[in-house]
Amino acid sequence: MAEDIATAGDIVIAGGGLAGATAAKTLRAEGFAGPVTIIGAERHHPYLRPPLSKEYLLGKAAEDAVPVVPPGWYAENDVGLRLGARVTGIRPGARTVELDDGSTLAYGSLLLATGATPRTLRLPGSDLAGVSTFRTLDDSRRLRSRLAEGGMNVVMIGSGWIGMELAAAAATYGNNVTLLGLEEIPLAGAIGPDLGRFFR
Ligand SMILES: Cc1cc2nc3c(=O)[nH]c(=O)nc-3n(C[C@H](O)[C@H](O)[C@H](O)COP(=O)(O)OP(=O)(O)OC[C@H]3O[C@@H](n4cnc5c(N)ncnc54)[C@H](O)[C@@H]3O)c2cc1C
Repeated sequence: MAEDIATAGDIVIAGGGLAGATAAKTLRAEGFAGPVTIIGAERHHPYLRPPLSKEYLLGKAAEDAVPVVPPGWYAENDVGLRLGARVTGIRPGARTVELDDGSTLAYGSLLLATGATPRTLRLPGSDLAGVSTFRTLDDSRRLRSRLAEGGMNVVMIGSGWIGMELAAAAATYGNNVTLLGLEEIPLAGAIGPDLGRFFR
């Protein structure tokens, strides 16, 4: 595998999440010695999202528990990291990507590891202060400091795992939480009605 990849030249990874950082780690672990650059739209080193709605949100884990690899790993392994930079265009013919600062970067192989974004509700009022989606470390930081004040009325929309975890965390901080979901029994589609009832 490393041989096939090595012939492809410089590797550019668009997206600095778990997939992007793990790809870089695996390339080095499997012996790829060529240039690897990760371009990540967020300002943070690639991090794990699961603690954001659990231990970190509850104040039981610090931010240094969140990175995919220690921040020093990238320089030690000669992996370029451009944080706060977004890929805005791909020119496959020229084998270049365009970044939001106007620069371009050449690649031999390009990995798209751009992940997912929350589905937003385009409703009147959805852009007001106090209304937000949840996915990033910055979202978790912001919500943690607000929820920790306690005594607020909090409405969560979405009764999947993340909505349930956020509702549990908000209640633990002493807030009044209402969870709105499409399903009568939360998580029933994922784990069946019996377990869903248990979590409800
Ligand atoms: C709150 C929360 C809790 C979770 N808990 C669990 C759990 O308990 N168990 C579990 O298995 N999974 C959990 N997940 C899911 C898991 O975190 C995801 O599967 C994982 O984050 C996917 O990683 P990824 O690298 O593919 O994508 P992402 O984490 O979405 O990372 C993609 C990155 O690419 C960046 N990006 C996007 N577009 C561009 C662009 N054009 N240019 C440059 N960068 C770009 C984004 O800003 C982002 O940083 C949770 C997710 C969330 C949000």
